[in-house]
Amino acid sequence: MQDRLILYVEDNFHNRRIVNKVLTSQGYTIIEAVDGESGLEAIRKIVPPLILLDITLPGMDGLEVVRHLKADQLLQGIPVIALTASAMQGDRERFLEAGCDDYLSKPIQVHELIEMVNRYYPVGNYSRLQA
Ligand code: MN
Repeated sequence: MQDRLILYVEDNFHNRRIVNKVLTSQGYTIIEAVDGESGLEAIRKIVPPLILLDITLPGMDGLEVVRHLKADQLLQGIPVIALTASAMQGDRERFLEAGCDDYLSKPIQVHELIEMVNRYYPVGNYSRLQA
């Protein structure tokens, strides 16, 4: 069986470690990118079935990344879950408007993360990345 890949763009080491540990325990394989530019590059190369996207990133931020994805026919169907500490009123709408499919607030709640990833992970759609 092929790996159930998730691409996670996050500049914070601590969050990467938590999310990786939680989702690995659920049978997912996490590919990490630490900023928007390298994240976008990895997404174009791998075409992952699901993307977890930090919004506050150095350089190109998460909203800019998702706008690039949604403008690309090959990538626009990939579900994107935003992860952010930002909890200002209107933020959720801003993320959804930019093209994110849903939103998780930090600090990350383990059960919420698992539930949301399971909900959005495409059934029977494995990554096109070949060994
Ligand atoms: Mn960040």
